[in-house]
Amino acid sequence: MERRWLNHYPPEIPSEVDYEEQPLFTYLEEAATINPEKTALHFLGKEMSYQQLHESAVRFSNGLSCLGIGKGDRVAIMLPNCPQAVIAYYGILLTGGIVVQTNPLYTERELSHQLEDSGASAIVCLDQLFSRVAAVKEMTQLEHIIVTGIKDYLPFPKNLLYPFVQKKQKPFTVVDVQYGGSVHSFKELVSNSENRRIPVDIHPREDVALLQYTGGTTGPAKGVMLTHSNLVVNSKQCSIWIYKHRVGEEVVLAALPFFHVYGMTVVMNQAIMTRAKLIILPRFDPKQVLQTIHKQRPTLFPGAPTMYIALLNHPDLMKYDLSSIQACISGSAPLPKEVQQKFQAVISGSLVEGYGLTEASPVTHSNLIYGNQVNGSIGLPWPNTEAAIYSTERGEFAEVGEVGELLVRGPQVMKGYWNQPEETAAVFKDGWLMTGDMGYMDKNGYFYIVDRKKDMIIAGGYNIYPREIEEVLYEHEAVKEAVVVGIPDPYRGETVKAFIVLKENAICTEETLNKYCRENLAAFKVPRVYEFRSELPKTMVGKILRRVLLEEERAKERET
Ligand code: AMP
Repeated sequence: MERRWLNHYPPEIPSEVDYEEQPLFTYLEEAATINPEKTALHFLGKEMSYQQLHESAVRFSNGLSCLGIGKGDRVAIMLPNCPQAVIAYYGILLTGGIVVQTNPLYTERELSHQLEDSGASAIVCLDQLFSRVAAVKEMTQLEHIIVTGIKDYLPFPKNLLYPFVQKKQKPFTVVDVQYGGSVHSFKELVSNSENRRIPVDIHPREDVALLQYTGGTTGPAKGVMLTHSNLVVNSKQCSIWIYKHRVGEEVVLAALPFFHVYGMTVVMNQAIMTRAKLIILPRFDPKQVLQTIHKQRPTLFPGAPTMYIALLNHPDLMKYDLSSIQACISGSAPLPKEVQQKFQAVISGSLVEGYGLTEASPVTHSNLIYGNQVNGSIGLPWPNTEAAIYSTERGEFAEVGEVGELLVRGPQVMKGYWNQPEETAAVFKDGWLMTGDMGYMDKNGYFYIVDRKKDMIIAGGYNIYPREIEEVLYEHEAVKEAVVVGIPDPYRGETVKAFIVLKENAICTEETLNKYCRENLAAFKVPRVYEFRSELPKTMVGKILRRVLLEEERAKERET
C-alpha cells in the first residue's frame, strides 16, 4: 500500500527510526552512566536518582538469581505505581527473565489463570495483596512470593492504596507476612544482594521481555509476547514523535498504571529512555493530579480520555496552573472532539489523539504534536509502521475513505500469543496484524477509527457504530460521559441504548437528549433507551467497560 502519510511528517521526524538491537535495560544503564545524579523517580515528595534506581534494579536481579531465577523464567509483578514496580520490572529484565504484568485489582480467579498460563515461578506483590497471592499459590507453579511493604521505600499513605486495597470492606487485611521458605522480603533481597551486574546473553529480536495479558472479554486472557526490540522501538518511536523534547530535561507525569502496556511504554520506558524525571502517582485521583501538575510542573502527561474529562469537570480546575504541560497523548479509547479542544485550552502545548493495542506494544498511530492535527482522527502511522484498511466484504485493500478493518505492520508488533500458535495465526494476515478495529484512511493519509468490529450494532439491517452516537452525545452541554451499546430487540434484532453520566448540577431529561439526537443523527441511529447513571464502570486506564454494561443487559434479559 502506498505510504502517502509520510509526506505529512515534519522534517524533524524520520520515516524510519534507527534502533540498535539492544536489550531494554541498556537505557537504564545508559541513564545511570550519563546522568547518575539526576532524579529518575519522584514519588509523593521523595526522590530516587538514576544511579540509585539502576543499583536497586541490579541488586534485585542478583537477588532473583540467588533464588534460581534466570533467563526465560517468568516473574509476575502485582503492584500499583510505585518505585518498587520500576525496580522489579528492570531487575527481572536484567536477569534475562520475562515480566508478567498483573493488575492489582485481579480477583483470585483472574490471577490464578494468568500465573498458571504464564508458568510464573515468582511474583512481586504488595504486602496488602499477599493473602490473595498466597491463596492461589498451590494452584500455580509459583515458588517464590516477594513481598514489598508500603513503607519499604518511601512513605505511602494508606488511603492512596484505594482501590487496590478497599478502605471500608477490608477484603485484604494487612497481613503479618511471615518471611522465610518461599516468602521473601523485597527490601532485603535488594539490600542483601551485590551491586554487580551479571551479564546475560539477550537476543533482542527473539527474546521475550514481557507477557502482557489481553482479550479477556472473549474468553480467557492471552499473553501477548513482546520482545526487547518491540519495547525498545515503541519507546523510541514515541520519543522521536515528541521530537522537541530535550533528552535529560523532561518531566513525565505517570498517572497511567505501569501494569498497563500504555503506561509501561509511553510513560515508564519512554521516560527512562530519555532520562526524564518520572513523577509517579499510585492511582488516578483528579485532585491529586491537578495539585501535582501545579507543583511538580510536568511537561508530558499521557492519559486516557476519561482522565482528561475528569480533570475538565473538576470544580477547582481553574485554581491550578497546568501551563507546564507541553504534550498530552490520549489513547486507549476515542477522544471526544470537545474534550480535545477544551483540555488543550488549559495546557501550554497540544493534546493529541493516538491509537494502539497491546499486540503492538502498543502505539501504532498518533496525531502530530507539533504540526497538523486532525481532530477526530487517530493521526498518522508512526515511523517504521505501515497501516492499511482491508475490506472484509470485498476481500481486498479498501479505497480511500472506505471503511474496513485496520491492519498494521511494524517492528513494535508482537511475536505472538504465549503458547497459542492457533490464536496467533488467526490475527496475522500476510504479515499484517489484524487489529479488530474498523476504520478508514482519508486522502491525506490520516486514519480514523469508526469502532471495534465486535461493538458494531446491527439494528433492522443497518450497521451502527456506537462511537458516532457517543460523539454526538458528548457534544451535548449536559453530558459528562456517554456509552452506547446494542441491546436485544424482538423486531430490529438489536436496538441502541445509551448510558449517560451528566455533568455536576446539570439537568437534562431523556426527552431533551432524544430530541437532540434526532436533530443530529439519522433516525435509525437514535438511541431508543436511555439510562442515567452517576458513574460508569471503567478499567484502570479509565477505559469505559462496555462489556460490563452489556453483561448487565444480558443478565436483565435472562431474568425477563
Ligand atoms: P488494549 O489492547 O487493551 O490496549 O486495547 C486496544 C484497543 O483499544 C484497540 O484495539 C481499540 O479498540 C481501542 N483504542 C485504542 N486507542 C483508541 C482510539 N484512539 N480510538 C478508538 N479506539 C481506541
